[in-house]
Amino acid sequence: MLGAGIVGTSVALHLAKRGLSVALVDRGGPGEGTSYGNAGIIEGNTVFPAAFPASFAELARIALKRSSLANYHLAFLPHIAPWLVAFRAASQPARLIETAHVLRPLLARAVAEHDALAAEARAQRHFSRRGWLKLYRTDRLFAAQAAELELAARFGIANVPLDRDGALALEPALRGIFRHAVHWTGAVSVNNPLAVTRAYAARFTALGGLALAGDARSLHRADRAWRVETESGPVDAGDVVIALGPWSLDVLAPLGITPPLAVKRGYHRHFRTNGNAALSRPVLDAQYGYVLAPMEQGIRLTTGVEFAARDAPPTPAQFARVLPAATALFPLGEPVEPQPWLGARPCFADSRPVIGRAPRQRGLWLAFGHGHWGLTLGPATGRLMAEMMTGATPFCDPKPYSADRFGT
Ligand SMILES: Cc1cc2nc3c(=O)[nH]c(=O)nc-3n(C[C@H](O)[C@H](O)[C@H](O)COP(=O)(O)OP(=O)(O)OC[C@H]3O[C@@H](n4cnc5c(N)ncnc54)[C@H](O)[C@@H]3O)c2cc1C
Repeated sequence: MLGAGIVGTSVALHLAKRGLSVALVDRGGPGEGTSYGNAGIIEGNTVFPAAFPASFAELARIALKRSSLANYHLAFLPHIAPWLVAFRAASQPARLIETAHVLRPLLARAVAEHDALAAEARAQRHFSRRGWLKLYRTDRLFAAQAAELELAARFGIANVPLDRDGALALEPALRGIFRHAVHWTGAVSVNNPLAVTRAYAARFTALGGLALAGDARSLHRADRAWRVETESGPVDAGDVVIALGPWSLDVLAPLGITPPLAVKRGYHRHFRTNGNAALSRPVLDAQYGYVLAPMEQGIRLTTGVEFAARDAPPTPAQFARVLPAATALFPLGEPVEPQPWLGARPCFADSRPVIGRAPRQRGLWLAFGHGHWGLTLGPATGRLMAEMMTGATPFCDPKPYSADRFGT
């Protein structure tokens, strides 16, 4: 297993549970990459993926760098342009409905698969079952949710539309500057995503798995096996899984495998609260695209997306854009850290991950590109991957997640 984020760790644990001999290799500790910094929401109830803005007004605001939903580095736009064109095509209403159906089998398993791993890893104390709350400041924004609520009803996904008072009854520390809310009651959240991945990794080693430090870019063929160099020496395996999140192509491109992965960068920062204000569940402010999530470290404010080179220096401009809105909604106090954290969501334009065999290379498997839903889908991916690798019947049809869809 190359990569010990929530995805790679979950795959490794599922393989170890089935009695396979597994080494989990990362250059850092488990869960310290993208999986460290998310909003902690296990979104088994999500219907539609994030979409390209439909309104010209919002696009204009993004272009003028006035929107908090998205930021971009101008010099990077020519590089990301083909991906954005594909993302826009995948954001047409009919395609969004298709994607919702294609992802439902995975999303429907998300909470149950976390529950199973959390129970055996004794990580349940990090989980909360109070759902999550999406707030809408205008009637227009709320009306735009009609299609999602309708499809949610068809999928049987529970939610409770609320007026302002109904939402304030759930979260009394919010200020009533919004008009509508939807409480997605089935969502689960965690108060420390790093601790959850670490707990799953500890369970993996307790089952006999090896957690090793090493650079995945050392992967090469050695005789009939795959070999990776680690600080404990070379490791040979008949099968290797690439679960390096936004770094996956660092290893795959030299092998000639280049599925069109992009990154949507995102920031977070923790804040203390003023007085004894508290949140019981994550809250999304739909107009500004940020989430306030209660974490062990404080209230974690996560931003929308930023299109920039993965390794370009941080430019947390979105914080300046959302902070006035966030502090008007909730009494945020002093920031906990001197600087925001920066991560990179690994995203395909069709919002599906890649799960399954790599093209053309025997014994090479892929599990990455989970975009906005990597925490959500890590354990379900772990089960699906382990079932495919051991020849068991997969719990759902893995074909829609195959890298073959790109013809690369
Ligand atoms: C701001 C923000 C908010 C988010 N909120 C949510 C949310 O609420 N719910 C949700 O489901 N998802 C959310 N996500 C998305 C989620 O965090 C990611 O999809 C997920 O963490 C991806 O996990 P991963 O295991 O694929 O990648 P990672 O966690 O990045 O793991 C990849 C691993 O590969 C290792 N690695 C890289 N290169 C090498 C190398 N050369 N050698 C060895 N090891 C290497 C890294 O050290 C890392 O540990 C959010 C993301 C962001 C940025």
